[in-house]
Amino acid sequence: MAWSTTSNRPVRMATLVALLLTGLGHAQTPRLFESVEAHMGTLMRIQLYAPNAAAARRAFRAAFDRIAVLDAELTDYQDTSELSRLSREAIGRPVRISEDLFRVLEASRQISEETAGAFDITLGPLTHLWRAARKSNRVPEPAAVRAALASCGYQKLHLNRQDRTALLDQPGMQLDAGGIAKGFAADEALAVLERMGVHSALVAASGDLAFSGAPPGTAGWKIGIAAPVGYLVRSNGAVSTSGAAEQHLDAGGMRFSHIIDPRTGLGLTQGLTVTVTARRGIRADAASTAISVLGVERGMAWVERQADLAALVTEGDGRTHASACFKDWIAP
Ligand code: AMP
Ligand code: MG
Repeated sequence: MAWSTTSNRPVRMATLVALLLTGLGHAQTPRLFESVEAHMGTLMRIQLYAPNAAAARRAFRAAFDRIAVLDAELTDYQDTSELSRLSREAIGRPVRISEDLFRVLEASRQISEETAGAFDITLGPLTHLWRAARKSNRVPEPAAVRAALASCGYQKLHLNRQDRTALLDQPGMQLDAGGIAKGFAADEALAVLERMGVHSALVAASGDLAFSGAPPGTAGWKIGIAAPVGYLVRSNGAVSTSGAAEQHLDAGGMRFSHIIDPRTGLGLTQGLTVTVTARRGIRADAASTAISVLGVERGMAWVERQADLAALVTEGDGRTHASACFKDWIAP
């Protein structure tokens, strides 16, 4: 097991040092604080350990402000976001973009290549079509799906690290970072907290969680996963869940997920719930979306080849599949 009792020793020693430095035990032991704000179309929850309420308030403000900046850059719900501007302005010519957006596009491209395009950040034309379909409660016309598909494809998005630019091959393309941005935002919120001296925190963006050091005196953050499986106890990592419980369209006896199969242009109908652990939220978030598309067999085969990932997939009928590492982490 990764969390032997000896792991408490550095914590105790650190506490002792803090007590000595502040002179005869006046150090305030960190306490747990929690705050919730609406960002990225969902409720974001941050839990952190801080010495007092004022320090916690400052930390929450800085972390949520960073999330708000990322939301403004990465959303495809606003024409004014950097992501939407790129979709309009980078057709056939390189456009210089922020480091944030570049990192998201770079991570997206990597996972697209690894999964033969199961994850694809250029699916905007399709995700927008299906968003409208959910609103009107009607499956899109096959012709509309075909037309949208023709404007998608991660190979039509080109990145240049040196100049930090992006270029799109054809008009009508639209990027949608909905499958990766929340995990990235959770990572970045943790990074802000770390810089402020908060070393034990958890950021939850609905299904996308990232966390730093273990709560004082514990082996890790306790992360509930799909019943009846149990929970994980982890620190310095991320856990993302994609799945059936989220937005969908019920029509003709089928349930179409908000996750799109890039090969068909249709919402997924397999009804999988996919939980992925990784070192970073950006990777866990994208991987959980990708595995949903790949399905049980191809998805698990891919995960087993990735040293940094572990996954649990639950099928609609309750059958579960856990990757080799994931099994080791489940606490009953
Ligand atoms: P998640 O909840 O992280 O699985 O992300 C789902 C969201 O990602 C959807 O609401 C879309 O915005 C976007 N999306 C849908 N299908 C895909 C896909 N195949 N690859 C990448 N992003 C997708
Ligand atoms: Mg995701």
